[in-house]
Amino acid sequence: MSDHDHEHEHDHDRDHSHLCDVQLRVRALETILTEKGYIDPAVLDQIVEHFETKVGPHVGARVVAHAWTDTKFKAALLEDATRAINESGLFDQIGDHLVVVENRPGEHNMVVCTLCSCYPWDVLGLPPVWYKSAPYRSRVVMDPRGVLAEFGVTLPEETKIRVWDSTAETRFLVLPQRPAGTEGWPEERLAELVTRDSMIGTRLAEQPGARP
Ligand code: FE
Repeated sequence: MSDHDHEHEHDHDRDHSHLCDVQLRVRALETILTEKGYIDPAVLDQIVEHFETKVGPHVGARVVAHAWTDTKFKAALLEDATRAINESGLFDQIGDHLVVVENRPGEHNMVVCTLCSCYPWDVLGLPPVWYKSAPYRSRVVMDPRGVLAEFGVTLPEETKIRVWDSTAETRFLVLPQRPAGTEGWPEERLAELVTRDSMIGTRLAEQPGARP
């Protein structure tokens, strides 16, 4: 085993701690594919590096901020998010089949993967630990209001909450409501209000002036 393998062990332990069997299978596959010459471990390292350092919630935040300021882009995003993002020329190409769901007055959306931990990596980076946890995955379906309360969010009683279950094929991103008092703001400033959790639906976008 080389240093290279050792590094990978750490990566997998951190990101997929609940998938020991899968982890072993991935390593076995990687070894065989490398030995057969089908893949280059250096390229794999670059891909891992990409998701660890370059892709993160700032990507999704830029998408949301752009949708808040450009109604045509927002309409295209809600119609076919993957296509809208890839054809805009403003963002790196994404590979996921991404569905964007819009929060509106009276309707709030939350995202989960009840089966495992499917997540829109292309626009949010690596998932938070709680997203992969069994309590979140089961409780958000049965008691979304209770989960929201734990994140400090209380919605009006009449607000409908929809929970979207991600799969390997389809990933969801919540388009939070644009906070009041941000009229005329440039996109870069708007994007600062768009937190990772607001795009999972466990929180709302930050209010202007709420952060120091
Ligand atoms: Fe999953």
